[in-house]
Amino acid sequence: MKVTVFGTGYVGLVQGAVLADVGHQVLCVDVDAAKVAALQAGQIPIHEPGLDKLVTSNHANGRLRFTTDAAEGVRHSEVIFLAVGTPPDEDGSADLQYVLAVARTIAEHMTGPRIVINKSTVPVGTADKVRDVIAQGLAARGASYGFDVVSNPEFLKEGAAVADCQRPDRIIIGTSNPASEARLRELYAPFNRNHDRIVVMDVRSAELTKYAANAMLATKISFMNEIANLAERLGANVEAVRRGIGSDPRIGYHFIYPGAGYGGSCFPKDVKALVRTAQDTGFEPLLLNAVEARNEAQRNVLFERISAFYGGQLQGKTIALWGLAFKPNTDDMREAPSRNLLEALWAAGARVQAYDPVAMKEAQRIYGERGDLVLVDNVDAAVQGADCLAIVTEWQIFRAPDFEQLAANLKDRMVFDGRNLYDPAQVASYGLGYVSIGRQPVQ
Ligand code: NAD
Repeated sequence: MKVTVFGTGYVGLVQGAVLADVGHQVLCVDVDAAKVAALQAGQIPIHEPGLDKLVTSNHANGRLRFTTDAAEGVRHSEVIFLAVGTPPDEDGSADLQYVLAVARTIAEHMTGPRIVINKSTVPVGTADKVRDVIAQGLAARGASYGFDVVSNPEFLKEGAAVADCQRPDRIIIGTSNPASEARLRELYAPFNRNHDRIVVMDVRSAELTKYAANAMLATKISFMNEIANLAERLGANVEAVRRGIGSDPRIGYHFIYPGAGYGGSCFPKDVKALVRTAQDTGFEPLLLNAVEARNEAQRNVLFERISAFYGGQLQGKTIALWGLAFKPNTDDMREAPSRNLLEALWAAGARVQAYDPVAMKEAQRIYGERGDLVLVDNVDAAVQGADCLAIVTEWQIFRAPDFEQLAANLKDRMVFDGRNLYDPAQVASYGLGYVSIGRQPVQ
């Protein structure tokens, strides 16, 4: 089947490559000419395990192509995916300008019937807006082609995006049109072989399902962070509590890890957008407000601990930082808790020596050259000459450090761990102080 994908970000590029890999003829369109040129030259703009090979091989065999030519994209296929960004607007609502811009482009260049499949995360009612924009665009041209707008939200996890798209837990198809449903079933048939993963529902429910999923996951994290804060004050150990509650199958072990707050391009913006959607209907979402508030506070916890240790005097201190990406296996730093920490440390007069296995280029892009940020290329260089170490991302490489070396290198022999990577007693046995989340500090 011929497929067009608008947007070659984490969602569009991965989905395009995975669809090409099963035999579809995929044309990816992006307005970012530099990105398209890089992709055409075989350079992959993001870090996603397995993506390089998939893009390169399918580009080489001609099934995956890239263009900035939107008209060509609309002509290429009857099936058009929208996978453009929906960043938060100033009031927290999802900014639909990119989605609606593509809708206008489609209307402008349509030469026959189309199925527009929205993969971007968008508020309930957006499919109707896209439909209106296309209808108006067609009317303005005096054209009348049949089209449908389907909601098909994406659930991939950055860091495991290729595997998630190749073996999705579920494929949500939001449409009440049997012909569109049949077309999407055909498109996704290669991913739906062993058991039926397709869930068909009306378009509004599909749009809400995506927000409900992310809000539920964010709620689990904020809940656990709340318990962690309580555990610290009550002399308890949140890691023991986590194991204790996770063993109940009704609760489960997934997504109950306390830490320095959730980040990334999805949870913060999607919770905010759902809050906004609720308020627009006159409904105050008490729980979602609390989830968001807990996370905002949690993102400052590590800085507060470091600042408290130094009695608020961080001027001239050098902090080693392990981890910049918002989670392991990605270079994405959108809304990463590392950014809260970096910016708070700089505001307090500290300098930072940071290391991340893949997000260094992204940090460089975001912050540019500055005297109070030194990006180094390994874990050891980050701690050389530093006063203390802070950890914000649970990369595998940070899990078994040479504690003797750390004790020798860190002037104040302190580790502030925002991801609870170590056993406090073990760290203490090397003469290091250790402050983590929801556990009693060792100093
Ligand atoms: P991204 O910012 O990585 O990529 C978006 C791409 O769209 C960019 O390359 C941009 O240049 C391009 N674009 C913007 N306007 C365009 C236009 N008019 N025509 C063609 N291309 C255009 O975004 P992303 O992380 O891939 O997310 C895309 C959507 O999917 C968002 O709504 C997001 O919430 C949702 N989503 C993201 C994830 C994730 O983990 N990143 C997971 C599920 C859903």
